[in-house]
Amino acid sequence: MILKSLVILALLGANALFSASRNLEIYWIDAEGGAATLIVSPSGQSMLVDTANRTPDDRDAKRIFAATQQAGLKKIDILLTTHYHSDHVGGMLALSKLIPIGMYLDHGDPIELNRPPIAAAYKAYIELSQGKRKTLVAGDRIPLKGVDIQVVLSAGKGITRALKGGGPNAARCQDWKEKTTPEPDPDNDMSVGFLLKSGKFKFLDMGDVTWNYEKQLVCPANLIGTVDLFQTTHHGLDRSNSPQFVWSIQPRVAIMNNGPRKGGPAAVFEVLRKSPGIQDIWQGHLAMGTPKDVNTDEKMIANLGPSAECPANLLKVSVAPNGKYTVTNARNGFAKTYSAK
Ligand SMILES: [Zn+2]
Ligand SMILES: [Zn+2]
Repeated sequence: MILKSLVILALLGANALFSASRNLEIYWIDAEGGAATLIVSPSGQSMLVDTANRTPDDRDAKRIFAATQQAGLKKIDILLTTHYHSDHVGGMLALSKLIPIGMYLDHGDPIELNRPPIAAAYKAYIELSQGKRKTLVAGDRIPLKGVDIQVVLSAGKGITRALKGGGPNAARCQDWKEKTTPEPDPDNDMSVGFLLKSGKFKFLDMGDVTWNYEKQLVCPANLIGTVDLFQTTHHGLDRSNSPQFVWSIQPRVAIMNNGPRKGGPAAVFEVLRKSPGIQDIWQGHLAMGTPKDVNTDEKMIANLGPSAECPANLLKVSVAPNGKYTVTNARNGFAKTYSAK
């Protein structure tokens, strides 16, 4: 009996050492303006956030699959679909044939079921996720072992109590201005947003939530606190990313999952560059409609050319147990290390 306990203790010890030495890894798969972010926890479990676009040659599903192979995955434990637009669900069916998916998380019914492509995508989603689906509400925890992920927004409703590090924010909110043009694609505002914590490190992903809806998390009180890494909301479009939002969460590093012709207008770069404590902006693509010198430094851009001949280089973040995190551009190997706050 004693011997058995000792063996168990030894195994637990080895396991603890092993997991403590493993990094959290996040991959941004280039999908020409679609969204696909792959998170691999120190536990080895994985969560994919969105499955990008559908093309006749399953381009994005293949790109996502390639990233799972680079990460050594045999399975995607959790697929989180932030919302049902085609640039977030398009590759799902094709991907599900390439690699098993364990669990499907979402915000509930889409609110654009009157649009035939969305109704069709949703029908396919219901079939695929049967028996493995869970709808999230703000405050829920996502069960990815080895990290702490909390839903901060889902189906338009945000958390109502401040997380650790949050607090009153009235001064920052004084000059917030509402966008008066109605959002043409309202399922954006239903997006699931989440805060991932791993030790001291914090990463925020808000899907495609737009300006008027993201506000509830920072005004009049900042319910999130500050973060280390921020995936710019909505591919870095200026329908999202208000100065009040970005300057409240104060990311040290921003990663923009833009496409060559989607996201990255000058106004968003200005908001990011004026954000207190920001150190760097990284981009999935050169934003071709924005002057080159407004884009970030070329060495921090993963893809420079048009979509037709795009090699789909990844951006990768590796987070060490001590909170130090390194961003690497797969195009040129350029890497930079930052400290968690
Ligand atoms: Zn999108
Ligand atoms: Zn969208």
